[in-house]
Parts: sequence; C-alpha cells; structure tokens
Amino acid sequence: MNTALETLRRDFGGDLIGPDDAGYAAAGRSLLVPGSPALVLRPKTVADARAGVRFAAAAGLPLSVRGGGHGFAGFATNDGGVVLDLAHLAQVEIVDERRHLVRVGGGATWGQVADALAPHGLAISSGDTRSVGVGGLTLGGGIGWKVRKYGLALDSLVAAEVVTAAGDVVRASAEENPELFWALRGGGGNFGVVTAFVFAGHPTTDVFHGTITFPAAEAATVLQGWAEHLRTAPEELTSVADFANPFAGGPQAPVQVHVAFDGDDPRLAARAIDPLRRLGTVTGDGVELRPYAETLVEGLVPPPGIRLVTRSGFAGAQAVPEVLRVLVAA
Ligand SMILES: Cc1cc2nc3c(=O)[nH]c(=O)nc-3n(C[C@H](O)[C@H](O)[C@H](O)COP(=O)(O)OP(=O)(O)OC[C@H]3O[C@@H](n4cnc5c(N)ncnc54)[C@H](O)[C@@H]3O)c2cc1C
Repeated sequence: MNTALETLRRDFGGDLIGPDDAGYAAAGRSLLVPGSPALVLRPKTVADARAGVRFAAAAGLPLSVRGGGHGFAGFATNDGGVVLDLAHLAQVEIVDERRHLVRVGGGATWGQVADALAPHGLAISSGDTRSVGVGGLTLGGGIGWKVRKYGLALDSLVAAEVVTAAGDVVRASAEENPELFWALRGGGGNFGVVTAFVFAGHPTTDVFHGTITFPAAEAATVLQGWAEHLRTAPEELTSVADFANPFAGGPQAPVQVHVAFDGDDPRLAARAIDPLRRLGTVTGDGVELRPYAETLVEGLVPPPGIRLVTRSGFAGAQAVPEVLRVLVAA
C-alpha cells in the first residue's frame, strides 16, 4: 500500500482527498448514499485517471468511478476503497462542426453540456436534470426530452475514450474495439472508466416545454388518454406523466403531464399537445416556448431520512391499460 501510494503521489496531478482533509464529507458521498472511502481522487487528465486505476489495483482496494454521483444504487462511492471522481474532466468541445460531433468529458453533467451547446444551436437528448452525470446516464441508456425523436442518449454516442482495468487507454467506436463500444452502450459502469464521450449532437430550436395539471380524481381517464395519444403523436412530442407524488400530497397530488415538443412552430406544437389538454379538467398549464437548456431542472435532494428507491419496467402495448388501471387503483 505504501509503495503504491508513493507511486500515486508521484504520477497523479489531480486532487487527492483523504478522511482528514477539508471537503472529505462532501467528496466521500454520492447524492443518495453516504460512503466512507479511504481516498477520493479527482483526476485532471487522462494520465491521472490511469494512475488512479493502477493505484487501486496495486493497493488491492475496491474502486468506484463517479460521473455525476446521481446513481440510485450508490456505486459512485464505497467504504474503505478508492473513489475516482471525474468532476474535473468536464470539458465540452465541438470537434466536428459539419457532423455536429461533440466531445464531452466523462465527468460532465447534463447542465454543463446543455449550456455549452446552446450557443451553437445544438443539444443532445439527455436527462431532465442539470446535475445528473453524462457518464452514468449514457452508459445505462439515458431518457431525455427528445427521446421519441432521437432515441436514448446512448443512441447518439459515436465513440468513447476508455481507461481499462489494466490502466491502458483505448478508443471504442463502430470501427475501433467495436465489442467494447457495444458493451458501453447499456452495460453501465462495468467496462472501464470513460474519460470522454463523443456524441452526434442534434440541431435544436427553442422547444415548447412545461407541465399540464389535472385533479387527482381524474387520474384514471387522464392517464389512459395520455398513453393512447402517445401511440400516434408525432415523434417531436415527448411526454412523462406523474401522479400520487409523495412530495406533493401523495394520493391527493395532482396528475402532472410534462411535455416537450421539439420545434418552435406553435401550430405544429398545438396540434401535438392540444389532445392532452382535452383529457380532463386542466387546473394548470405552464407550457411555453423556451430554450432547450432551460428544460433541464435543478435536481431534487430528498429530505433527510428519505431514501429514494426506483423500480422500472416495460409494459407491452396490450398491457398498458391494465397496468395503468392497477397503478391508479393502488
Ligand atoms: C434527480 C435525478 C434525475 C434523473 N433524471 C433522469 C433522466 O431524466 N433520464 C435518465 O435517463 N435518467 C435519469 N436519472 C437516472 C440517472 O441517469 C442515473 O442515476 C445515472 O446512473 C446517473 O449518472 P451519474 O454519472 O450522475 O451517476 P454516478 O452515480 O456517478 O454513476 C452511475 C454509475 O455509472 C458509472 N459511471 C459514471 N460515470 C462513468 C464514467 N465516466 N465511466 C465509467 N463509469 C461511469 C458509475 O461507476 C456508477 O456505476 C436521474 C437520476 C436522478 C437522481
């Protein structure tokens, strides 16, 4: 361990934060899970990231990789091991204007990406929250406000720069290391440390975005109609609905239908969104034309004592009405 630490101190040019250092409490934890790692490493270069991986291997310590630290399972921290926090590797750079190729550091957040791309009229279909990491979201899939038109975030991934468990740097794309490229797109953080992603960005205008609200008592009809409309709605329309939100009154919470229409033509937007407005008694309608970057919100920090747990599943087209009926009844 001592020799490994000496080598690390020699080769590593980033931040090295141990339990006795200022800032350890914040550096040690991920958003939802407290941790007590032996060491948090914040690399500033790819060479630093390699040194961090090699150190953990040489010292025989568990290694956690952190992008934005928003993973629900808490894999971005550990107890007694090493955390490689990629927060400094957050540069966003357009590398090919014609093909809209964007290189994004492995520790960038979606807020940083949206802000950097806005002046270029580009966006990447990504999460709905500024502080969520590009790393965990992309490697696991990535649903965003343009998902029905452009697919998951990983569908826009063109290449990745990866530090392997052996500490080597490789590039993965359709041409180079194609099997690794395949595995990165959905395999989560299991196949190496991604120090940079290359995405194909999408030209974007301002978008119609906001929330339409209905009374809780109308949940059954609103949700059935919402699901039915999305079967045939234009792909420019992406929508998420929530109800019985525990932070907004539980069973009494209003039904919220969040919409994003990818385009700035009011006539086309209204044609796509108006059928949703007719599903019930609209008690609020905040849909407005706004810059894409403004559709991303600040993240929810759960109140103390509340641990967020998520479950997800797919429902086949035939099953949707019954799934919604059971959820509303529950
Ligand atoms: C408030 C909130 C809002 C969300 N909204 C959305 C949403 O709109 N759409 C959506 O699809 N998901 C959403 N999610 C889920 C989110 O995509 C996942 O939790 C994701 O894992 C977070 O990524 P992260 O980099 O922030 O997390 P982390 O906890 O840092 O990482 C998650 C996993 O990915 C690995 N990892 C991260 N970066 C790298 C990297 N560069 N190289 C290798 N491995 C890496 C980590 O080791 C870990 O195993 C949301 C989550 C929260 C908490």
